Amino acid sequence: MGEFDLIARYFKRKTPSALQPPAPSATNSVAIEAPPIALGIGDDCALLTPAPGQQLAISTDMLVKGRHFFPDVDPAALGHKALAVNLSDLAAMGAEPVAFTLALALPPERAADDAWMSAFAQGLFALADEHRCPLIGGDTTAGPLNICITVFGQIPVGQALRRDGAQPGDDIWVSGTLGEARLALLALQGQIELAPERLAVLRERLERPIPRIALGRALRAIATSAMDLSDGLSGDLTHMAVASGVGAVLDSMALGKAVGPVAECVSPRPADPVSLALTGGDDYELLFTASPGQRDTVNALAVASALPLTRIGQIRSGSGLWLDDGAGGQSAIARTGYDHFA
Ligand code: ADP
Ligand code: MG
Repeated sequence: MGEFDLIARYFKRKTPSALQPPAPSATNSVAIEAPPIALGIGDDCALLTPAPGQQLAISTDMLVKGRHFFPDVDPAALGHKALAVNLSDLAAMGAEPVAFTLALALPPERAADDAWMSAFAQGLFALADEHRCPLIGGDTTAGPLNICITVFGQIPVGQALRRDGAQPGDDIWVSGTLGEARLALLALQGQIELAPERLAVLRERLERPIPRIALGRALRAIATSAMDLSDGLSGDLTHMAVASGVGAVLDSMALGKAVGPVAECVSPRPADPVSLALTGGDDYELLFTASPGQRDTVNALAVASALPLTRIGQIRSGSGLWLDDGAGGQSAIARTGYDHFA
């Protein structure tokens, strides 16, 4: 099969359901403008027509075999994750998904493996359809397996949730639970042991992160800053604090809560829950700040969206990250986020 057959077979869909009007029962069902796609796959460029008053939000993330995923990973999960990590960036800005492009390097034996290619496309398009985010172009080449997606979103001008808006006195919040993807990774690497049924649950967190699009949209009116957690809380929060020109104090009790009970169930214990929350990467949850006046609103949002939102600390003036031990002591937190070249 040649390059163009491969594109036609797996990636060019005649009637992408993502372009259809949303079903009444669709999850995240909020009235969404039709995606502003004037031209999709097949020409030299795709054409997008942003609605008046909207800004485009654009982000790229690359997944490299052996670095971001195991060579034998389930291809459907890989398709899901490649898009999910990009959609997570849109969520972090409060943007609505519009479309994405896919640049793919494939070893010839993968390209010829119909079961693998079909499963990859299925995982990719299941998530794309859920968010009405069609594939509008890309590039396909032979080479070591490498998946690079660029996602396009839209957001009303001036409403994007940036990293540089945190104010002294703001609360710091995280969505969902932290550290679970890291536990799954440690188990798959043979560094810790997990019961098979527990590994199955945590593996979902590593391989099928859920982009928090609806939460990001809701936070537009609430948060002063936001970002998604991909490299571990301490490193990511440092980025936010530096961008905002502030410092942050985290509450160790609250951090333990954000990790949930899973940290108690592994053997040998890889680290205490607080370090797991601080250093575990691949969470793809949202980190955001909001004024203390918004606490009731945020708590109501957690209930309405059935997603835990945990207040884990406070922004303060100055710089650096501090951990409050709950007994009057505060210690500096080392910046330990993942860095590919460190
Ligand atoms: P060009 O040579 O003009 O850059 P290509 O021959 O690479 O274009 O691709 C032909 C068409 O197929 C283009 O519209 C491109 O966007 C699309 N395409 C190529 N690879 C992919 C892919 N992996 N997924 C989706 N569309 C793709
Ligand atoms: Mg090309």
